[in-house]
Amino acid sequence: MEFDASRARIDHAAAVVAGGVNSAFRLGIRPHPLVFASADGAILTDVDGNRLIDYFLGMGPMLLGHRPPAVVEAARAQLDRSILVAGQTELEYAAARLLVELVPSAELVRFSVSGSEAVQAALRVARAATGRSAVVKFEGHYHGWFDNVLWSVAPDLAKAGPREAPVPLPGSGGQMPDPNISVLPWNDAGALRERLAAGDVAAVIMEPVMFNSAGILPVPGYLEAVREACDAAGTLLVFDEVITGFRVAPGGAQQRFGVVPDLTVLGKALANGFPVAAVVGLRRYMDLIADRQVLHGGTYNTQSVAMAATLATLTEIRDGAPYRRIDKVGARLMEGLLEEFAAAGVEARIVGYPAVFQVRFGAVRPSDFREAQRADNARYADFAAALLRHGVRVLPRGTWFVSAAHEDGHVDATLAAVRAVLAETR
Ligand code: PLP
Repeated sequence: MEFDASRARIDHAAAVVAGGVNSAFRLGIRPHPLVFASADGAILTDVDGNRLIDYFLGMGPMLLGHRPPAVVEAARAQLDRSILVAGQTELEYAAARLLVELVPSAELVRFSVSGSEAVQAALRVARAATGRSAVVKFEGHYHGWFDNVLWSVAPDLAKAGPREAPVPLPGSGGQMPDPNISVLPWNDAGALRERLAAGDVAAVIMEPVMFNSAGILPVPGYLEAVREACDAAGTLLVFDEVITGFRVAPGGAQQRFGVVPDLTVLGKALANGFPVAAVVGLRRYMDLIADRQVLHGGTYNTQSVAMAATLATLTEIRDGAPYRRIDKVGARLMEGLLEEFAAAGVEARIVGYPAVFQVRFGAVRPSDFREAQRADNARYADFAAALLRHGVRVLPRGTWFVSAAHEDGHVDATLAAVRAVLAETR
């Protein structure tokens, strides 16, 4: 497949759009960022007319696939009623009720527009609840692009200090220094207990399964140990389930692992592609928002069309049918990939679940970000770029998102493309 029309459009557009793209994460895609004409089910069509099997899924949100009928119909119908009312609709109440039903920590809900914003709300609640300022995050974990959390997400290890006590490194030029952030190695309960002992930490925030910079599961007992350590220190535990939410289980990683955080951030799959996120949590903390001690705002919060889409998405999720499809197809894909790698003599591992997993080349079995850097990430990125030429779009960092619209035929075509790429590069 060729991508010449995309390249020409991007080059032309760069005269008016910075870099030709509207998010940092859309730069650096090989052979170059793509321009799309349409999306349907598991398939994207680009401006070259290529039909690509899509495992980006909008960077995760499209759990039900592109343009699922129930969501499209709900959004379309809402356009005839209202778009934005700066007030309440029954839609947001119904959607909140479903969140409370699905997500174990969700006693009260506040909707936002993006995951980055909802993270800010969660940290503000934690600071108000504890009267403390410090926040602990973990090396390699991503919690949005705002100054106070964009630390040590993809740090240069030559500058990152010792594993046990990483030096917080900023992720962007122009980022404000932050004396309140501590960066720790994830999956290391001892390091966390030691840091919390100072008694100054408002919140510990983490991806409960690490999917951004690597695919790493919590080691057995780790989440429980974190929960205990936070309780002992009077620190709030915040799960950032923007990726894991509705993918690791309908109720997120907290449901799968049975560890309930104080606050949870949701986004992405929550509205199947519409810009909706939420901070949810235990009533005693979320009440700080209700009684106006903590300000959480946003002109576009609960925009009506987005809420209609949210309600439709959550209704499908609660029904469970999407998981029955994803579990079957995603598991087949995971197994098939491992078989293809083994047949080609490529050492590879897959970590995760049918709806979201990470493929890694090399022998490493990491439990933290630093160990994960010993995987053959450059080779995997080459593999992902080659796969695109065979009509399969996967993230160069190894994450695969699977939707309820992926079918056996897509898996067969994907595995054939993988086989072809591995044969080419042997
Ligand atoms: N938290 C996690 C775990 C994420 O993966 C992301 C986005 O990728 C965010 C927060 C930020 O969400 P958004 O891009 O909607 O601001």
